[in-house]
Amino acid sequence: MRLTPVITGDYYFMKDKVVIITGASSGIGKALAHELGKAGAKLVLAARREEALQAIAAQFSDTLVVKTDVTVEAQCRNLIEETVKNFGKIDVLVNNAGISMQVKFDEIQDLILFHKIMNVNYFGMVYCTHFALPHLKKSKGLIVGISSMTGKIGVPTRTAYAASKHAMQGFLDSLRVELMETGVDVSVISPGFVQSEVRMNALGANANPTGESRIDESSIMSAEECARQIHDAIVNRKRDVIIAESFRSKIAPLLKLLVPKIVDNVSRKGMESGTT
Ligand code: NDP
Repeated sequence: MRLTPVITGDYYFMKDKVVIITGASSGIGKALAHELGKAGAKLVLAARREEALQAIAAQFSDTLVVKTDVTVEAQCRNLIEETVKNFGKIDVLVNNAGISMQVKFDEIQDLILFHKIMNVNYFGMVYCTHFALPHLKKSKGLIVGISSMTGKIGVPTRTAYAASKHAMQGFLDSLRVELMETGVDVSVISPGFVQSEVRMNALGANANPTGESRIDESSIMSAEECARQIHDAIVNRKRDVIIAESFRSKIAPLLKLLVPKIVDNVSRKGMESGTT
């Protein structure tokens, strides 16, 4: 089911635009690579699983694969340098790489979980954005952060994840103000539940992946639909977008200001039933 118009701007607006996508080996990043590749973008695909990236790259021309662990500053610098060496510019940086968790705070046994999540979701974005910024200023480009509904409201079993996504939101909102009148725009994209590997890879009490999703994955938005909406946000340089099926989720930040206790209850019940 298509929830929004495909693209409100020109579908081929992205033709020959150089787009870096971190976390492109699965889920939303992979679907976005396909979506933007079909629209003619020059893709730079980054993640740790190089073979998965190569399989995507093989389907499009003008695609570069750079094996990157975004928690390593030097590898993020290398990603940006390789992009500029190959394509001469950067138009869009999509900070998408991320990991999650599914465990209550008082059940966590190893606090390294907080560092692991912050290192990927927050520091990975900071590193890539820092090295890309001079090039984005030249192209008057766009910085995209794939945040989460969990960057807008509190969600049980996601304390570290929510902290990392709130940090992402704060960083990008502040950077947007700093970049006023430079021509560089900043988009924060906050999806709700989307089909991907994120819950299978989510960290548990011992800070290792649990290997199980606790929700009915078939009932939530597809990664392809999410990618179409991200494409639209990029073309239209949207400032802040919530990608969710329910109207209730779309207005959650407003409801949080008006009726915070109700939002807390909905968040708790939604997480229990997997329908937030
Ligand atoms: P997936 O687990 O399917 O994809 C996560 C991607 O991040 C993979 O490509 C993975 O690649 C990459 N990644 C993980 N760790 C690193 C690392 N250290 N260095 C580089 N890349 C890394 O999940 P999603 O597609 O769902 O996640 C994409 C983004 O969307 C995340 O930021 C997530 O928080 C966000 N999001 C997802 C939602 C959902 O319901 N799916 C909802 C809201 C937000 P590799 O393992 O090859 O390195």
